[in-house]
Amino acid sequence: MTSNSPRCDHCGDVGCKAGQPGKFKYCPTNISGHDRAEIVKRYNDPELQKLMGAAAKVERGTLQTVNGVRTPIRPRISEIMAFADEMGWTRIGVAFCLAARDEALRLTKVLEARGFEVYSIICRAFGMTKGEVGIPAENCLKSPDETVCNPVYQAELLNDADTQLNIVVGLCVGHDMLFNKHSNAYVTTLMVKDRMTGNNPVGPLYSNFFSAILKQK
Ligand code: SF4
Repeated sequence: MTSNSPRCDHCGDVGCKAGQPGKFKYCPTNISGHDRAEIVKRYNDPELQKLMGAAAKVERGTLQTVNGVRTPIRPRISEIMAFADEMGWTRIGVAFCLAARDEALRLTKVLEARGFEVYSIICRAFGMTKGEVGIPAENCLKSPDETVCNPVYQAELLNDADTQLNIVVGLCVGHDMLFNKHSNAYVTTLMVKDRMTGNNPVGPLYSNFFSAILKQK
């Protein structure tokens, strides 16, 4: 790490939120070497403008005043659909894991009922095996003959369908990265798989789960 590596987690006042560089000595606002005006200018790109505008409108639509208090009034699924509406996207892909099939089926029903053209692809399509992609037996659950997720194929099929937005539902760590990288359309995640926590990946941060690691520091 160099002195101008970003470490906002070390910052005490988050002054940037109010448009002021923080008091933190290594606040990237002061030392990163990037020209603020140049970064802002990048958002002049029409596509970026549209995306940023849609994101702001979705946030504004979700945080409504209820009994005098700013309150979120709709879930992420509704935000995703509102975002697609704003962008003029009508074709939506759903890339899901076998383990999240129930959630994916519920999602596709909602998307279709809302009028979107839906395409979906499960992770095991093509029935590729772990042995075929060189995964050694010791890293398999039973044997190299067991099927494995195929995120590249998932992305390619949704690329063929010319989807305008892809939604990830429960893809495994690593497979999600490959899917995101190979998808032509923008990707958003609805559900993050966490096998231990019932898909609540930040839960362990609120428990003593990492206390032994933290004590070593
Ligand atoms: S004020 Fe600077 S260091 Fe603090 S959170 Fe904002 S950008 Fe990061």
